[in-house]
Amino acid sequence: MFAITGLIGSGKSFVASVIREAGFEVLDADALAHELYEKNAELRKKIAQEFGNEAITASGISRVYISNLVFSDPEKLKLLESIVYPVLLDEIEKRNPVFIEAAVLHKCYNFVTKMKQIWVVEANEDLRKDRLLERGITDGRVEVQKAESSELRIESCVRRIDNNGTKEECKNKVLELLGEHIPDIIQRDILLKKYTTFKIGGNAKFFAEPKDIEEIRTLFVWCREFKIPYFILGKGSNVLFDDDGYKGLVIKLSKFGAGNSLHSLIQNAANQGLGGLEKLEGIPGTIGGAIFMNAGAHGQQISDCIKSVSSITENGKIITRTKEECKFSYRSSIFKNETILSAEFNFVPMPKEIIYKNRKEVLAWRKEKQPLQYPNAGSIFKNPANNLSAGALIESCNLKGFSIGNAQISELHANFIVNKGNATAKDVKALIEKIVQSVKEIHGVELEREIIIAQSK
Ligand SMILES: Cc1cc2nc3c(=O)[nH]c(=O)nc-3n(C[C@H](O)[C@H](O)[C@H](O)COP(=O)(O)OP(=O)(O)OC[C@H]3O[C@@H](n4cnc5c(N)ncnc54)[C@H](O)[C@@H]3O)c2cc1C
Repeated sequence: MFAITGLIGSGKSFVASVIREAGFEVLDADALAHELYEKNAELRKKIAQEFGNEAITASGISRVYISNLVFSDPEKLKLLESIVYPVLLDEIEKRNPVFIEAAVLHKCYNFVTKMKQIWVVEANEDLRKDRLLERGITDGRVEVQKAESSELRIESCVRRIDNNGTKEECKNKVLELLGEHIPDIIQRDILLKKYTTFKIGGNAKFFAEPKDIEEIRTLFVWCREFKIPYFILGKGSNVLFDDDGYKGLVIKLSKFGAGNSLHSLIQNAANQGLGGLEKLEGIPGTIGGAIFMNAGAHGQQISDCIKSVSSITENGKIITRTKEECKFSYRSSIFKNETILSAEFNFVPMPKEIIYKNRKEVLAWRKEKQPLQYPNAGSIFKNPANNLSAGALIESCNLKGFSIGNAQISELHANFIVNKGNATAKDVKALIEKIVQSVKEIHGVELEREIIIAQSK
């Protein structure tokens, strides 16, 4: 746990906001205390007994009452703290936040010893007075706080953040400190629309393209320590990211093993007279993405030729599964919480001319039937059971060409949504909703999405 602490008016809330904006979780101890007053009837009762009803409001303890105690009655404040801190610290321990913003920290020795680092925000007294005055607090009160800060003792893990300059300077200092805790291979604030075939999506807070298994392990360890959600990305040909991006780490696999393109696999096999997956030509994904989705077309699916798949768990364990153990079914596999690293294939020996002919035919078919001139993410819905076609169902609802914003249900293929130029994820989701409702109303069929909507919350 990291703590952000500092005197009243020093700017620790600003520092906390920079950390949050950078993509990390920060728990506000003050807000948590109030949440506890509100929820914990026992605590409220104790406070009412000691301090009388003026301390209590309908939703918990009165903030005005606490403010007054902070500045005017140190003895009563100590009493209040002795009642509240055990409950508060217990709750903080339970939640185990990555960062905690806590003005009270220096008074709780045991608590302080649990911190990996303590970031103390400092501002000179005149500045603090000005800031307090801005908030309607008179300057004489600053002194009370100053004396208490000397109790903060564990210097070896203390990092100081000078907040006497501009907000920009303070922010840069915070980002520099944060940078010490972010592996070098991670980039920040990377635009995701560049990495999806839909050309939609805001920034990823964190982004990395690991070049080997060790780097993947490093990323997982970091995500665990800093409670950062992550998303594995292949070529982004079946993914929709939100307009406000992904508030976690996007791990793009492109530099080794299953991060290679499906096309390169088919091509290499074909060069050796090996077929069996040649009809998947034109699917613009990686090998890993195709295995995860069990991609298929024209009666072939990638699982047909799989011998075994190796993946890595979040804990860094590598598992190799046989085809049967991969539990492949229509557009689905077992790999929900694992990252596919590599696979072995059993291709079918075939004359090269047949492989070449099949590839050429399916590519021509795609060119004719799919709206490849616009950014898209392939089929939006899975085909329902009983040989029904999602595209035909959507088409019979007269939805071809229907648009929301710059997203359009393709005029060529009703199961494709195309980006006609700066379409947003919001537009696409609204179209998906419209399709689901129409098909349900008119055909009584519940369509299931094939496209993956990446969510960090
Ligand atoms: C024009 C077009 C045509 C298409 N035609 C077809 C088609 O005929 N048949 C078909 O099945 N699909 C088709 N698709 C959809 C898409 O190409 C496939 O689903 C493809 O397999 C996705 O691979 P990807 O690398 O782009 O995965 P992404 O889109 O990047 O990711 C898809 C999902 O796989 C996961 N994932 C990716 N890599 C890994 C990994 N290494 N380990 C674990 N999880 C991983 C992601 O987390 C995500 O949940 C088409 C798409 C387009 C744009």
